[in-house]
Amino acid sequence: MFLSRRKLLNYINCTGIAAISTPIFGAINTNGNTHHLDYFKFKIGNIKITVVSDGGFQLPISSIDVNSSEEELKEHLKKYYMPEEYIYSDTNLVVIEVEEQNLLVDVGSGTRFIGNTGKLFDNLSKANINPESITHVFLTHAHPDHILGIRDDFDEAIFPDAKFMISEKEYNWWTKKNRVNEVEETFVQMVLWAQNSLNALPEISLFNNEKKILPGVTAFDTSGHSPGHSSILVESEGSKLIIGGDVIINPYTTLKNPDFIPENDMDPVQAQKTRLEILDLITREKIAFLGYHFPFPGVGHIIKNENSYEFIPASIRW
Ligand SMILES: [Zn+2]
Repeated sequence: MFLSRRKLLNYINCTGIAAISTPIFGAINTNGNTHHLDYFKFKIGNIKITVVSDGGFQLPISSIDVNSSEEELKEHLKKYYMPEEYIYSDTNLVVIEVEEQNLLVDVGSGTRFIGNTGKLFDNLSKANINPESITHVFLTHAHPDHILGIRDDFDEAIFPDAKFMISEKEYNWWTKKNRVNEVEETFVQMVLWAQNSLNALPEISLFNNEKKILPGVTAFDTSGHSPGHSSILVESEGSKLIIGGDVIINPYTTLKNPDFIPENDMDPVQAQKTRLEILDLITREKIAFLGYHFPFPGVGHIIKNENSYEFIPASIRW
């Protein structure tokens, strides 16, 4: 998910208002409390997984669907007991541990983005994961909430000894010479953020379509949300999990109404095709799913109803 510069200004203007109101979700008064959980550990077969929260941010509700009016979106949100003024996005980073190698999926927003983000290092520490133990970093795509954290506060790339990876399609699209002059004005900041982050890396390894990264861990193409968006399949002892980045943004928007076209899908037709293919695969084969922006820790199963889908969070078991 990302924000254009204009949207960002709207967002900043509207957070001031949101901060003084008291969101009430059904009977539950959150009263502006930051309730954030920091990390969540589980296993897929014998592969250890830790969801590490990078924090979260609010987006305008117009980001949910390009074809709905504000009133229609508010009606939809009300139906699911969600605040009607904004949509809250968690940012769920993932550490996959295989044979003493640690693969981090996305690096989050760093300290230069919006909302209450940039929690990666604090929460790695709470999860007892030494940053120096990160051997691989996989980037699902080059939107700022996934990669802006590459540069630290001293402008150095984080995890200098780790091997960074992104799909070649994604890398080439964002870093194309003159890209900044080819996009609409509202996209310029996005391109600069992506280039600034990717260029901070001394080295990045590129792959096409599908790539085995570690034993039981495979990256595969799920483009549409961005030109070369990729996801991760984790497989061990017959259990499977897809770490889906932004393929599905929120369990109460595109899952409840699969006709919604999120504003931030760069190729809306391809994004919807990919989303429906992934949904078909995970519901048919009972594969667990982890969504980057799903309510923390964002992992569970998805079941198919007649005209919609339902997310069953794994955390209800604890
Ligand atoms: Zn995102």
